[in-house]
Amino acid sequence: MPDACLPLLSIVVPCYNEEDAIPVFLDKITIVLSNMESVDYELLFIDDGSGDATLSVLRKLVESHSNMRYISFSRNFGKEAAMLAGLEAAAGDFVAVMDVDLQDPPELLPKMYEAIIKEGFDCIATRRDTRKGEPPIRSFFAKVFYYLINKISKTKIVEGARDYRMMTRQVVDAILSLKEYHRFSKGIFEWIGFKTKYISYENFPRAAGATKWNFWKLFLYAIDGIIGFSDAPLAVASVMGMLFCFLSFLWLIFIIVRWMLLGDHVAGWTSTICVIVFSSGVQLVCTGIMGQYLAKNYLESKHRPIYIIKEKIHRKQQ
Ligand code: UDP
Ligand code: MG
Repeated sequence: MPDACLPLLSIVVPCYNEEDAIPVFLDKITIVLSNMESVDYELLFIDDGSGDATLSVLRKLVESHSNMRYISFSRNFGKEAAMLAGLEAAAGDFVAVMDVDLQDPPELLPKMYEAIIKEGFDCIATRRDTRKGEPPIRSFFAKVFYYLINKISKTKIVEGARDYRMMTRQVVDAILSLKEYHRFSKGIFEWIGFKTKYISYENFPRAAGATKWNFWKLFLYAIDGIIGFSDAPLAVASVMGMLFCFLSFLWLIFIIVRWMLLGDHVAGWTSTICVIVFSSGVQLVCTGIMGQYLAKNYLESKHRPIYIIKEKIHRKQQ
């Protein structure tokens, strides 16, 4: 029977097609959390519209685990939406977000809690110090992404930062005060500030199941991050526009002078075509950049809900 006086630690766990991973995760996390005698805990699983037996597994497990509850979405809304739903539903004085595949080691939880209580941090975050086991092409693009976003955005994003972190209630409330539709948590965590400590760990293989991220999904996620936290691409479009105006002006003077001196106004077809093709390409890129911001703005202005809940089990009254 949990002690009503103890602080509550909520563990938010997004799950998408994780029927095999959930029981393994639950066994392991229960051992770790039961050994944390200074907190009461709740486990909050978010079924992100899984197509496998994730929901039935959760329904079954909740029967025998009084500290567990779940929320199930009407469809797959993505990990960002699942994390948000979990943070909104979490009742804890402290909240941790972690993956269900045991790539986020549960043994770190007591260490995180201690760092918040004893060292006075508001948030204990994690980062992978290596990308061992990851395809080299994915690591390369991840490196490019972190380099780019840290160059062009005022919000600095720690390379290799994971979503796995423990936060105080104050930090959770700050995250929830950001109502944006396109959520990029790695940026939001940094943007809100607060005293954060990073713990590094090695990359572990998944306990069960397979990753849900392919190259295209990661690419779109990276674009969300860049557009959500920097307007530098818009400035690049304007600068390129100005540069091209200036170059075309020089080109015009050159053509007029050459015509006056040589009277030759027919030659130069190849170079003209090259310029037309190149400048049309640049124009399309610039229009595309503006289109991205406009599209995000369009979706933000619709104020659609970020997720829709189909089923949920509330925390049992204790
Ligand atoms: N996840 C989710 N919705 C999605 C994709 C993933 O809730 O649309 C969950 C997934 O079940 C896991 C966590 O997010 O608990 C991390 O996903 P994954 O392990 O596939 O990512 P990776 O570790 O490969 O970056
Ligand atoms: Mg994983």
